[in-house]
Amino acid sequence: MKPAFQKDDALLADIARARAEGRSRLWWLGQSGFLLHTRAGTILFDPYLSDSLTQKYAATDKPHTRVTERVIAPERLTGIDFITSSHNHTDHLDAETLKPLFTANPQARLIIPRANRAFVLERLGKIESTLVQIDAGESVTVAGAELCGIPAAHNTVERDERGHCRFLGYVARVGGKTIFHSGDTLMHDALIPALKPFRVDLALLPINGNRPERQVAGNLNGREAAGLAHAIGARVAVPHHFDLFAFNTEPPDEFEAACRQLGQPFRTLHNGEGVEL
Ligand SMILES: [Zn+2]
Repeated sequence: MKPAFQKDDALLADIARARAEGRSRLWWLGQSGFLLHTRAGTILFDPYLSDSLTQKYAATDKPHTRVTERVIAPERLTGIDFITSSHNHTDHLDAETLKPLFTANPQARLIIPRANRAFVLERLGKIESTLVQIDAGESVTVAGAELCGIPAAHNTVERDERGHCRFLGYVARVGGKTIFHSGDTLMHDALIPALKPFRVDLALLPINGNRPERQVAGNLNGREAAGLAHAIGARVAVPHHFDLFAFNTEPPDEFEAACRQLGQPFRTLHNGEGVEL
């Protein structure tokens, strides 16, 4: 298994240092999970910090073999203001991650697509009071951060019977920075127009691509992710959604080559690694 850049006590010490010194910093926790700390609030985007999928699919023809070791047990992360879930797939809405997180962070709120409320309550149990529901085009302010819903196509922009999007990305404006967390998405017509007005500083984008033979919903590939970052004028692009499951990963090489070609600044992180904002 690939070692994390840093994990457990070393990761917690890095987070504690940034907090003590009042610095804004972002850590990649693996797959689409990121911890963002700013003086205005601490956000946890789409954490998956268990082995629930590896266990669920063990001894099936779809083994979810872990590529990189886990960086932290969810119950050890504290001081979280809010947590996002971009959609209902387990690597973005994991009961084995979220239940211990909410026990350790009873004050935290869970931001979810409005369309997914019933599903989320069924999966996580009685957490109604922690939920903040938003839809594409809406924004909410929680703990000093403004979050806006961006439609995502995984693989299409799917809506419930009331017209609310089942898949979202989120733009967070917090501590003077604007961060786009893509969720899982392919390119679609509404994506660039929705993102461009935000003047995104940091775009967190999936790069594992869309391969029908994997029999799972797909994502931007590296070249498309670089193109999206460039098209919206993102100051820095950070790739994610790779190095977690052996059957559904891609190396970041194509993303990095495309960024260089476009003159798009990027930063590839390792699991557990942080970057200063
Ligand atoms: Zn995913």
